Amino acid sequence: MTDVPAGRSIATVCLSGTLEDRLDAAARAGFDSVEIFEGDLVASASRPADIRSRAADLGLALALYQPFRDAEGAPPSRFESVRRRFAAKLGLMSELGVPMILICSSVAPDTIDDDGLAAAQLGELAGMAGEHGIRVAYEALAWGRHVSTWQHSWDIVQRAGHPALGLCLDSFHVLSRTSQYADIAGLPGDRVFFLQLADAPRLSMDVLQWSRHHRLFPMQGGFDLPGFTRAVCDSGYRGPLSLEVFNDVFRQADPRRTAVDGMRSLVCLKDAVRAPHGPLAPPPALSGIAFTELAVDGESGPELQRWLDMLGFAHTGQHRSKPVELWEQGKARILLNSGVVRRPGDSGSAAVSAFALESASPAGSARRAGQLLAGPLPRRRAGTEADLTAVAAPDGTQVFFCRTPGSDRGGWLDDFLPCGRPPGGDTGITGVDHLSLAQPYDRFDEAGLFYRSVLGLSNDEAAEYAAPFGLIRALALRDGSGLARLALSVPLLRRGEWAPGVTHPQHITLASSDIERTAAALERAGARLLPIPGNYYDDLAARTDLEPGLLALLRRVGGMYDEDTRGRYLQLFTPVIGSRVFFEVSQRIGGYAGYGTPNAPVRMAAHRALAQYAAGGN
Ligand code: MG
Repeated sequence: MTDVPAGRSIATVCLSGTLEDRLDAAARAGFDSVEIFEGDLVASASRPADIRSRAADLGLALALYQPFRDAEGAPPSRFESVRRRFAAKLGLMSELGVPMILICSSVAPDTIDDDGLAAAQLGELAGMAGEHGIRVAYEALAWGRHVSTWQHSWDIVQRAGHPALGLCLDSFHVLSRTSQYADIAGLPGDRVFFLQLADAPRLSMDVLQWSRHHRLFPMQGGFDLPGFTRAVCDSGYRGPLSLEVFNDVFRQADPRRTAVDGMRSLVCLKDAVRAPHGPLAPPPALSGIAFTELAVDGESGPELQRWLDMLGFAHTGQHRSKPVELWEQGKARILLNSGVVRRPGDSGSAAVSAFALESASPAGSARRAGQLLAGPLPRRRAGTEADLTAVAAPDGTQVFFCRTPGSDRGGWLDDFLPCGRPPGGDTGITGVDHLSLAQPYDRFDEAGLFYRSVLGLSNDEAAEYAAPFGLIRALALRDGSGLARLALSVPLLRRGEWAPGVTHPQHITLASSDIERTAAALERAGARLLPIPGNYYDDLAARTDLEPGLLALLRRVGGMYDEDTRGRYLQLFTPVIGSRVFFEVSQRIGGYAGYGTPNAPVRMAAHRALAQYAAGGN
């Protein structure tokens, strides 16, 4: 079994704010050391001695100072200035109390392509550092002028043969160039001085731009971080696992959240490296969405009641101590909570404030969440009410874990006084297919890791599409049974002021066993579903072999259609209720595995057109 070092470190460049903000955030999230990024120190109002004592007070070791650029391969005329600059940094590091400096491979245009010269110069610098008790970690940048692979940097380190000179391995620089890293396990571990970890999405682009804008924390991208980390650990490396990630979101996000996100990624990575003997208990099996809670107000509440009634739900229970209604149909349960305090000016709004997952072990799910830095939310409950544990997802949605009893009721359902009505149910609606939750721009990758790690979900379908008001990135996740599905989405660029579409839309997709029956029931109830434009059906007829009867049905009821190699998907939509919530009714036929994503742009435009119509526009 791979022995993973305990040290957990983060580079200050991962976080935003002043250097003090970054140190505080790292300490709060549980890191035991940091890498000091030179630019962060230079910009700080604090002197090095103050930084040293602040870090010590926070319990943070300063593990590494970085980067020192354009050192090796310098023409002799320039190397004198390299020496002077290096000496100054060694003095600074002694003030800071940092025991290691990172030298990254040169990118300067005048760098000489001569390994002998590079080794001699690095050896000389290591000698200078050694006199201060400082070690030098040499890192091959993926875009280094002459040294860009870990093998080449190792050749030079061996050639220099100085005990104060070793390697820094950075997963981005290695994995952005090659998937051949198994030989790293054969390196002498005491010559690997430092390990920096970053993931990234698989992109075809200039590697420097890829690195600067798109790095992600481990387990958030497409690189094999567990395999790479295992290889480095198997070499005998004993230093910290250190996160070195820069991307456009982290540079402006709250550093405290980013630090927690980073720590969660390290917990997941360690678990994956040591699998099946990782520190985390396996996630308990999930078997569906037990309920979805909508926060409503005096305007949106009655409107949602009307729609639930038309959809065939029955108001079956009233919470014993809170202003919460339970509506049921089949296994679909919606809670309307009018006790949520709203901000002034937020009237008419409704939002998914919570959802509950059926778990084989609610206590086990909560325990795993705690191990992944998602502690239980404080809850107010009367003595006899069910003790449900909730944790906060990155967008603030409360996620409950529960086990709903069978037909004899009991459990959390006993918190609701019966209204004397049986659950609704002659419309074909049987349960909840999935929840779709738009994510805040800054939290999308964090949310993906949260749901994968805390709930044990897997990536299902990833897509990017052009919507009427910008590019949208979507990621669907599901559990092993396929009964608990979530669909996340986010605009690819931060929204500007002109955002006339539904901002941060959320929808509950209700599963129907017979969408024609559901549509007929809605028609009888007088529901006016979202009208879909005729152009859509003309296009559908042109690009598919749909039976004329089905095409006519879709056209008549405002249905949409998608198919994959395994089956078909039929959809209906309500208008937006309040400012951001709507319902979808879907029928999966055969083994269709998607989410109707190709229809999303047309549906979005239809919601916009309906809103314009309602406002009297054109
Ligand atoms: Mg690096």
